[in-house]
Amino acid sequence: MDHFLYRNGALHAEDVPLSEIAAAVGTPFYVYSTATLLRHYALFDEALAGVDHLVCYAMKAASNQAILKTLAQAGAGMDVVSLGEYLRARAAGVPGEKIVFSGVGKTADEMRRALAGGIRQFNVESEPEMEALNAVARDLGTVAPVTIRVNPDVDARTHAKIATGKSENKFGIPIARARQVYAHAARLPGLEVVGIDVHIGSQLTELEPFAQAYAKLAGLTETLRADGHDIRRLDLGGGLGIPYARSNAAPPLPTDYGRLIRDTLGHLGCEIEIEPGRLIAGNAGLMMTRVIYLKQGEGRDFLILDAAMNDLIRPAMYDAHHDIVPVIEPEPGAEAAPYDIVGPVCETGDTFARQRPMPPLRQGDLIAFRGAGAYGAVMASEYNTRPLIPEVMVKGDQFAVIRRRPTFDEIINRDTIPEWL
Ligand SMILES: *Cc1c(COP(=O)(O)O)cnc(C)c1O
Repeated sequence: MDHFLYRNGALHAEDVPLSEIAAAVGTPFYVYSTATLLRHYALFDEALAGVDHLVCYAMKAASNQAILKTLAQAGAGMDVVSLGEYLRARAAGVPGEKIVFSGVGKTADEMRRALAGGIRQFNVESEPEMEALNAVARDLGTVAPVTIRVNPDVDARTHAKIATGKSENKFGIPIARARQVYAHAARLPGLEVVGIDVHIGSQLTELEPFAQAYAKLAGLTETLRADGHDIRRLDLGGGLGIPYARSNAAPPLPTDYGRLIRDTLGHLGCEIEIEPGRLIAGNAGLMMTRVIYLKQGEGRDFLILDAAMNDLIRPAMYDAHHDIVPVIEPEPGAEAAPYDIVGPVCETGDTFARQRPMPPLRQGDLIAFRGAGAYGAVMASEYNTRPLIPEVMVKGDQFAVIRRRPTFDEIINRDTIPEWL
């Protein structure tokens, strides 16, 4: 459920008409709903009620500080994957003890700054990384809390680019080698092993792959405890999918996911961490754009928008579907016609949808891409020297620009011309 609904024939973000925001900030832009973000966070928090747990929002999904602060004030921790994200979370007021640091290629500098600044744990993904973190911690005269990410070799049954839990993926250590690697970690004085980490992929639309992974994790917890390791924390990663198309079957809900976690891992008495990103932010954001032209092609019609693949890369990169709706609610029974919906960038890949049935539209009409809150603004680029589009946050009847559109001068003046030219 989200808070983007038609009222009196016009699409609103909570209590604000989207046309009002478009008039104030210009198109294209992203807009987020505070109530939707908080509702999604609460669903996860409630799903684990009664279990010692922390919901660490995977901020790579949408990392504007206004989003981080909204969630942190509700009690969320953060999952970060770079020093930049760590610093951004700290700048938004998230305390170090609520930040977990994931990622397959942390550098010694990233480790040093996070360890010195305060961190809940590092999710370590390889033995060389263990050695590097040990050296950094020893150098700082401290001990780094770690979990080790194991790769459970399960098929997440999602898009190949976002599946991470198969043995051929670059992530984690093979579960078959876990005992050896944990024994190695236990010998490193700069590390304190606190638990185990898994994350098998993103946009999972069924619980079965989680069930397989968590069953393996339960077995591993018992084995490692028998080996003498104090396994007291389990980080279960993120990955629960969202319904991108209203017409499709809905993926499992956080409540079902919470029940699965209790059923498979509850008996172990561990503290549970989860790292949802997409489900918290995805349906809490829209990308807003206008129709520049309606163009007749050979046997097909094109809807040319002022947003492009550089603003929202998901359709080009993951063949992703977004529901695309007009801000003015179509008349009941309005006849739909198929369009190829494209942006102005000079690549055929700059196509948001092919032969998508759309109600009657005119040049200048405002259009919303649903489900654009996660992996939208954060993956945008300035390809074609198109400025990064603004982000806006709505709360009730208020809205605020939370990242403004850069000026062309700002973009152009970031280049420096060598003296010899
Ligand atoms: C990307 C990622 C997540 C979040 O995944 P979602 O599908 O957005 O929930 C969580 N943990 C790790 C380690 C990740 O890389």
